[in-house]
Amino acid sequence: MEVIEPEEGEIFDIELDENLQKENLRIAEENKKLLREKGVNAVDVMGSVGAGKTSLIERMVERLDMKIAVINGDLTTTIDAERLRAKGVETIQINTGKECHLDANLVRKALSNLDLDSLDLVLVENVGNLICPAEFPLGAELRIVVVSAAESPWAVSKHPYIFLDADIVAINKIDVAKLVGSDPLKMKEDVLSINPRADVFLTNCVTGQGVDELVHSLKNRLGL
Ligand code: MG
Repeated sequence: MEVIEPEEGEIFDIELDENLQKENLRIAEENKKLLREKGVNAVDVMGSVGAGKTSLIERMVERLDMKIAVINGDLTTTIDAERLRAKGVETIQINTGKECHLDANLVRKALSNLDLDSLDLVLVENVGNLICPAEFPLGAELRIVVVSAAESPWAVSKHPYIFLDADIVAINKIDVAKLVGSDPLKMKEDVLSINPRADVFLTNCVTGQGVDELVHSLKNRLGL
């Protein structure tokens, strides 16, 4: 089939994008340096709206015996931050307005509002989106992508870039896969064909299925 692919410079905002990304990367490196100095691990949790990022963070918080804070990215609401606060976790809300992703500068601001000396781990819930957050590293040690089997059987193969740099992937909501015609094992294959280094888990964040294994991988990768 004939496919139109833009030439270099043909997408209107490409030059602006490159400068933004360079500056974002510089601040992300500063964030990483600060976090390492303070002995705090940070994890960027990415995925679409409704994939189950907040639910996975809730299940992780229950299983990790350490001092945790959550930075919540959302366009306008505080729904997820309130859910996590109700679990006794310190949370900082970032509302991005029209922006479809968190960036390193916003995370730097949130980190300056946390007492890093008293923390072991910062979990960052990115804005619900499977495209934009991929291009904006925040300075986290690890990146988790949550993709729901309810989104589409092609949710992984249509969003390759976010999976390229993922350390851990949760194929979530596996209990409803059959209802919507998805195959979680095929989605896992799709992830591994894009990024063979990722640890991929089939999860149900309501029952907790698969979450112990995911947390085990997280601890391993952080050297805990
Ligand atoms: Mg959420």
